[in-house]
Amino acid sequence: MPLDESHVQAAVVCAKKLGIQLRVRSGGHDYEGVSYASEMGDPFVVIDMSKLRSVIVDIDDNSAWAEAGATTGELYYRISEQSKVHGFPAGLCTSLGIGGHITGGAYGSMMRKYGLGVDNVIDVRLVDPNGKILDRASMGEDLFWAVRGAGGGSFGVILAWKVKLVPVPETVTTFTVVKTLNQGLTKLLTKWQQVAADKLDENLFIRVEIMPGTVPNTTQKTVQALFNALYLGSANQLLRSMAQTFPELGLTKKDCNEMSWIESVVYIGGYPTGTSIDVLLQAKPLFRNYFKAKSDFVREPIPEAGLEGLWKKLMEAESYIMIWNPYGGMMSRVPESDTPFPHRKGTIYKIQYVATWMDGEVSAKSSMAWIRDLYQFMEPYVSKNPREAYVNYRDLDLGMNKDGNTNVNEARAWGLKYYKNNFDRLVKIKTKFDPENFFRHEQSIPPLSSPNRKTKKGKKFHYHKLGKHHKGKGC
Ligand SMILES: Cc1cc2nc3c(=O)[nH]c(=O)nc-3n(C[C@H](O)[C@H](O)[C@H](O)COP(=O)(O)OP(=O)(O)OC[C@H]3O[C@@H](n4cnc5c(N)ncnc54)[C@H](O)[C@@H]3O)c2cc1C
Repeated sequence: MPLDESHVQAAVVCAKKLGIQLRVRSGGHDYEGVSYASEMGDPFVVIDMSKLRSVIVDIDDNSAWAEAGATTGELYYRISEQSKVHGFPAGLCTSLGIGGHITGGAYGSMMRKYGLGVDNVIDVRLVDPNGKILDRASMGEDLFWAVRGAGGGSFGVILAWKVKLVPVPETVTTFTVVKTLNQGLTKLLTKWQQVAADKLDENLFIRVEIMPGTVPNTTQKTVQALFNALYLGSANQLLRSMAQTFPELGLTKKDCNEMSWIESVVYIGGYPTGTSIDVLLQAKPLFRNYFKAKSDFVREPIPEAGLEGLWKKLMEAESYIMIWNPYGGMMSRVPESDTPFPHRKGTIYKIQYVATWMDGEVSAKSSMAWIRDLYQFMEPYVSKNPREAYVNYRDLDLGMNKDGNTNVNEARAWGLKYYKNNFDRLVKIKTKFDPENFFRHEQSIPPLSSPNRKTKKGKKFHYHKLGKHHKGKGC
C-alpha cells in the first residue's frame, strides 16, 4: 500500500527485477477482479492505491487533481466544498476508484451534456514500466490518448488525474417514476427508445432500471422499470420539456425533487432520501452480493416483439437488474477516435445486464447460465460487427489473454468490441511503451509480439462480493 509516489516507483522497479507481475487496485470495483486476482498463473503482487487519495480543487483554474485512490464521491464532495456551480461528469456510483474508473471511460448522469470523464481529463501522472513518473508533456500525446479509455492495467500505474470541472446550475431536479408491465411498460419503453433516450434536451438524462417487481396491490410477479433522472435545471423547466417531448411518462410536479448538484449525486447514487452528503466521504459500496454482468450498445430501437421476448427471459430469473443508459447529446459529437472509447454517434443507449445472487457457489452456475442465455437472446437487437461492449464492465466471456502470454489476434476478439478501430492504435502504443508486456492482465492490451513466459495455473474468479445490495437505485 504505497504512501507516496516513490513507493509506487519502487514497487514497479522491484517487481520488474524479480519477474513478478503487478496488479493495480484503486477502488477495487473491476467486474472480473483483475485488479486483485489472476487467472494467468503468474505470481503477482497488488499495488493498493487507497492511501493515495488527495483531491486538490482549483476553482480559479476550473480544474482538480485527484489521486488514483480517491473515489468519485470524494472528488464530487471536494468540488462542492468550494463551489455550488461546478461539478465533474463521471460515474453515478460514488465508491469507484478514480484510478481505475477514468481509465475505461467513466460515464455518469451528465454524460449527455458534457461527455465522459475521459473527455474532461487534461493531464495525468503515471509510473511507466521503467519506474519513471511521466505527465502529459513528458509522455507525449499517443500515450496520453491511450490511457484515456483503454481500461486500466495496460500502460502504467496512474498516480493522479487532472480533470476539467464543468458548470452546473445551483438547482437541479431529480425524479424516479416506476412503471410495471401492466401499466403499459412495453409501449412506454418503445417511446423512450424513439424519443427520450438520445434525442431529449441534453440537460436531461433519463436512465431506465429494469428489475423484478409485483403487480400493484397483488403478489403477482412482474417486470418493473424505474425511470431515474437528473435534469440540469429547475422542476418547472423540466416539466415544460417533458410535456413537449415525453408526455407519456406522466411526470408531475410531485415526482420532481429540486436540490443542489451534490445532493443529486447522493440521490442518483442510490442512497435513501435524507442521506447527508457526508456519506460521499465514506468510500463504501452500497450493495454486497455476487454478480455477473455484460453490456451491449443499441443502435436501432428494440421492437415490441423483442421486448415481449425479453420480458419472458427476465421472468425466468429470481434476481437481476438491467440498466438502459441514454446516449446522444455530447456523446454523439465526440469523434470515435478522440479517445479509445468508441461508442459514440449512432448509439441510442447502452444496456448493462446484471445477474445477482447472495449464496456464492450455490447459485453461481445457474445465474451465469441465465445471463449468458439472455445475452445470446439479445444478439439480433444490438450493435453488430462488432457487437460492442464497455471495457469498464469487463467481461471475460469475451475472451482473455492466457498463461502470461498475449496474442494480438486472440485479443482482437474482445479488443474490437471494447475499442472498435482504436484497437490497432492501442497495440502500437503498447508496443512502443511496454514492449516486454510488463503491465498485463487477462484483458490488457497486448504488444505486437509478447515474450514467451512460462507460468503456473492460477485460480479462477468470475464473480465478486461487494457491499450490501441496494435494490431500486443501484449504480
Ligand atoms: C457498483 C458499481 C457501479 C458502477 N458504476 C459505474 C458508472 O456509473 N459509470 C461507469 O463508467 N462505470 C461504472 N462502474 C464500472 C467501473 O467504472 C469500473 O469497474 C472501474 O474499472 C472501477 O475502477 P476501480 O478503481 O474502482 O476498480 P479497480 O478494480 O481498482 O480497477 C479497475 C481496473 O483498472 C486498473 N487500475 C486500477 N487502478 C489503477 C491505476 N491507478 N493505474 C492503472 N490501472 C489501474 C485495475 O488493474 C483494473 O484493471 C461501476 C462498477 C460497479 C461495481
